[in-house]
Amino acid sequence: MAKFFEYQGKEIFRKFGIPSPQGEVAQSPEETKKAAEKIGKPVVVKAQVWAGGRGKSGAVKFADTPDDAQRVAQEILGMQVKGLEVKKVLVEEKLDIEREFYAGAIINSAQDVRGPVLMFSTEGGMDIESVPEEKIAIKNVDVIKGLMPYDTLNMVLSMGVKGKILRQVADVVYKLYDMFQKTDSRTLEINPLVLTKDGKVIAADCRMAVDDQALFRHPEFGIKIGREFLKEPSEFDLIGWSFEESDFRGTSYVAQMAPPEEVKKGGYVGYHGIGGGAAMLGMDALNQVGLKVADYADTSGNPTASKVYRVVKLIMSQPGIEAYFLAGFLMANQEQWHHAHGIVKALREELPKRPGFPVVLLLCGNKEKESNEILKEGLGDMPARVEIYDREHFYDAKFIAGRVRALVDEYRAEKGK
Ligand code: GDP
Ligand code: MN
Repeated sequence: MAKFFEYQGKEIFRKFGIPSPQGEVAQSPEETKKAAEKIGKPVVVKAQVWAGGRGKSGAVKFADTPDDAQRVAQEILGMQVKGLEVKKVLVEEKLDIEREFYAGAIINSAQDVRGPVLMFSTEGGMDIESVPEEKIAIKNVDVIKGLMPYDTLNMVLSMGVKGKILRQVADVVYKLYDMFQKTDSRTLEINPLVLTKDGKVIAADCRMAVDDQALFRHPEFGIKIGREFLKEPSEFDLIGWSFEESDFRGTSYVAQMAPPEEVKKGGYVGYHGIGGGAAMLGMDALNQVGLKVADYADTSGNPTASKVYRVVKLIMSQPGIEAYFLAGFLMANQEQWHHAHGIVKALREELPKRPGFPVVLLLCGNKEKESNEILKEGLGDMPARVEIYDREHFYDAKFIAGRVRALVDEYRAEKGK
């Protein structure tokens, strides 16, 4: 799912008429101070990371003056929240909170629902998972009939909200669903939806994630890779994604795992797994022999040889890698000769440039015998350290990783490292 930062979600709130606090994004303590000056009132400074529970982690702080705001931004910027570094903060006018509600919509893929679910609760501000079920109004929305304004009115009323604010709150819940649907979101949450002391209903937080499969309908979001990515995609990641975008046959998943400067320091392998679980197993085995992966690549679901070829070329383009490792630790049902053809073509182009380069290939599964013949015949004359394994070593991750290690050591000794 494509996750959005709070500030991005709130920009979209404005388009859908959902009230949210006046605010600005800042990337430095100085910018934070300027933003606070502009707001001219006490502010809240909030870490922009793809993680909830920021309040509890000290990543949401209040400031009465612009100088205070600068000081708390100094504390928040650069901190880690659930393993994610804070690079931006949202500076907003601080709300005077009277009550906190919860409003959210998700896609529930469970067999008996399979559709959008709208939720409202008067217990806002805490994790919705920890709110007792009887305190949440839940509506499975019929996608044919759609949602009616009286539906959200009934939901909010059923939770005991009365008086002047009833319509205001119901209106926000209605608009939230409208935005959820029109943005093809899978999650859209306002927690807390705040009632201020002066009687306004304002969305104080936003959590939003859009369906990857629908991103092509939303160029306005500017999301380059329709996949869950915890960081801004690098050039390497973007090239990897272009293989997927231009060829839907089989899947290739490629991501940079270490910055190129790090890889050049040594100990990194160009990594190519087949199938997610098998790829994990291979990475683990590599780590146990003191090697790391420069990239994570997985080609499965019966990809074409051309797709495999492009992935191997990309893996081999990483300066400083000390081996190429194909970790096919599974009996793949796909016809493995497509892998064999793609790998041979790519390595025949790449290996002559690096004499003695370590290559360990484990390929098992359908058409295994033929595939390994292709590998042996295609790479036999390469001026490299090539070892090819089949189902005999399919269970033996330790042995295979040990071979990568041994070849890397030989290669280093030869180069006098
Ligand atoms: P989260 O913990 O990551 O979900 O971050 P939130 O944006 O929900 O903020 C956490 C908590 O900080 C909220 O539940 C509120 O209680 C509090 N908070 C956030 N914004 C304001 C504000 O403008 N005024 C006040 N008084 N409290 C706020
Ligand atoms: Mn929240």
